[in-house]
Amino acid sequence: MRNGVKSLFTFGGVFYLMWLASCSGSMDSRAANPSQDSLKLAVVSDSKTDTLPSCTGSLTKRWREPVHLMVDTVNPISKDSLAKAIRLERRRVRDSVRLALDQLPKHIYFTFDDGPLRGSKAIDSIAKARKIKINAFLVGKHAFMSKGLKRDYQKYYDNPLVECYNHSYTHGNNKFTTFYSNAVGAYNDFEKNETDLKLQHKIIRLPGRNIWIYDDIRRIDLQSGASTADMLYTNGYKIFGWDVEWKIHGLTGKPIQSVHEIYTRIRNYMNNKSSMEPNNVVLLMHDDMFQNKKGQQLLSSLIDTIQTHTDYRFEFMQDYPFRY
Ligand SMILES: [Zn+2]
Repeated sequence: MRNGVKSLFTFGGVFYLMWLASCSGSMDSRAANPSQDSLKLAVVSDSKTDTLPSCTGSLTKRWREPVHLMVDTVNPISKDSLAKAIRLERRRVRDSVRLALDQLPKHIYFTFDDGPLRGSKAIDSIAKARKIKINAFLVGKHAFMSKGLKRDYQKYYDNPLVECYNHSYTHGNNKFTTFYSNAVGAYNDFEKNETDLKLQHKIIRLPGRNIWIYDDIRRIDLQSGASTADMLYTNGYKIFGWDVEWKIHGLTGKPIQSVHEIYTRIRNYMNNKSSMEPNNVVLLMHDDMFQNKKGQQLLSSLIDTIQTHTDYRFEFMQDYPFRY
């Protein structure tokens, strides 16, 4: 096994780099079609004929899959020994997959909820100044509350570094259980938001719920909300939650988690592969956190820290997830 991993990084060095280049950037990882078996061989076998790893999500699959062991049915071992063997095998597979994933690009998604609000204008300027992609999950009702907020929405909309997504028109009036108890009503609220804000992408975050439904993933945090999410998914929407949340007192700009704490949290999720998708971390923030200078400086400081200490790529949710 060790030889297998080693050969992946030594024997196949040049090809491996070529593969890195082809998997990176805006390429849709699911569009590539080399066989998944080739990657398995590259990672797990002792063979000297390593095949190029592919961008088909094989590593992610191996990370998630239960392990398989060959057992001798004629001379069975004890239950305890078997459990131990499975644990060891699981660790061995995970270590090798983590090692391979660590060599690959890592993706961070800055997502801002509830805009346009006081704070949106600053976020828009910071995205431009730092040249990073950001994601805004918008609430239509806010955009029509004042001329100023309408302008801020338009700024987001016109900024190529900002993608605008759907966070419902009314934000469920902040009464989430009532809102989701009428799935059709909630669904219509999202549709109204899409129409009124001229949203281009069928990408949604549910107010008050960390629910994910996309591709082969369905994860529900609270049952109330599930039927609305399922209805949206059936009608072509992707529903995204978040991995890590950063909180700052909007009015005072006083952080509940410091820049260092939130940065460490993001790094841990990235390194431990404990986010929803390995090598992809979705950070949730709210627009009103950045309504004063203090909060804005913290946001810039987090971006600085990430750019100085990592090679994470800032991405749009429409490209989520990058699977290897
Ligand atoms: Zn919200």
